[in-house]
Amino acid sequence: MDISTACIHAGYEAGNGEPRALPITLSTTFRYSSTDEVARLFDLSESGFFYSRIGNPTCDAVEKKIAALEGGVGAMLTSSGQAANLLAVINLASAGDHIIASSTIYGGTVNLFSVTLKRFGIECTYVSPRATKEEILAEVRPNTKCVFGETVANPALAVLDLEVFAQAAHEAGLPLIIDNTFPTPVLCRPFEWGADIVTHSTTKYIDGHALTVGGVIVDSGNFDWEASGRFPDFCEPDESYHGVVYTRDFGNSAFIVKARVQLMRDLGCYPPATNAFILNESLETLPLRMRKHCDNALRVAEWLENQPKVVSVNYPGLPSSPDHDLATKYLPEGACGVISFVVDGDRDRAAALLDHLKMIPIEVHVADSQTSVLHPASSTHRQLTDEQLIACGVEPGMVRLSCGLESVDDIIADLEQAFAQI
Ligand SMILES: *Cc1c(COP(=O)(O)O)cnc(C)c1O
Repeated sequence: MDISTACIHAGYEAGNGEPRALPITLSTTFRYSSTDEVARLFDLSESGFFYSRIGNPTCDAVEKKIAALEGGVGAMLTSSGQAANLLAVINLASAGDHIIASSTIYGGTVNLFSVTLKRFGIECTYVSPRATKEEILAEVRPNTKCVFGETVANPALAVLDLEVFAQAAHEAGLPLIIDNTFPTPVLCRPFEWGADIVTHSTTKYIDGHALTVGGVIVDSGNFDWEASGRFPDFCEPDESYHGVVYTRDFGNSAFIVKARVQLMRDLGCYPPATNAFILNESLETLPLRMRKHCDNALRVAEWLENQPKVVSVNYPGLPSSPDHDLATKYLPEGACGVISFVVDGDRDRAAALLDHLKMIPIEVHVADSQTSVLHPASSTHRQLTDEQLIACGVEPGMVRLSCGLESVDDIIADLEQAFAQI
């Protein structure tokens, strides 16, 4: 199935006389008539739904659809992108362990790794997204459990060299986790480049209409947990499940089964069926939407490059981008809809530009059908001085622009009238 067909058909197939639309199964629990059946579900010797904290038919259909789109063996929805990255990492790493991450990842993930996971006893070392295989391997320790990166970083827009990160991880016997939020499986499928686990904040393009916060973890089924030697939890009996051995009993779905039956059971960050229904709706049009987001972003980025009041434009789809070669390789159909650019002048001038916009709202959000802007220096990063801003890679005049699905002429016209007033 082509990906545009899978976006519509994968995950749910209606039987004769059944609803065309994915039914919303709004039920916390599921009825059984024999204790034996329930016992088999609890022993994991049979699959079935019993409690909507760890599985639900509506969520299940969307999990199957997203797994098909990424080319994985299974997926698990989570209540947010933060929860997806948390569970993906702690399915591998425990107190006393260590992980390696690309330094340009999303700020929320940096906080998760550097503050909260540190309190859990898990240490993170950061490497440049431009690191060589040798530089990544130099950071591997005996207790390292994974390598983590983002295909296209939010908001730095750095494109990760997926093959280099995958080769380094595999040489050390480690799985590579890739947060594929910005490209979505429509623009890039990291498993094809060696990634082992993919995560998403579905809050962004997969939802795409600013309706629901959510996340997903997808398992490629390709990582050999036994051969690695670093994951006894996968290969030895789990006493919390009557001695289940994930690799023996679940084969190449060991990672995603363990994430669900251990971590989702204990932490309970599963989304409601209503949210999964909304994601399913949105997924049907994802390929159409991604094409338009990318077309609009490239046109707006080219227009911005020719504006005298703009110092620089950062968009991997532009030939002037230092990441253009990587974008051509990994994102041949487009580099997402998010652009950043630096307004000539101080932080007040960039703020003034945003205040003069008429159609485009200021929002702490990206990847929406509506175009939106944010000025980090007067919002998410406002506590920092100009010097501190520059040190963390955010220019005082930097504006983040998420190109929506409107006519590109209207987006440019709004920017043009706002530039004329500053
Ligand atoms: C937004 C985002 C997250 C966090 O997702 P939430 O759904 O907001 O919890 C994680 N990674 C990336 C790349 C993001 O853009």
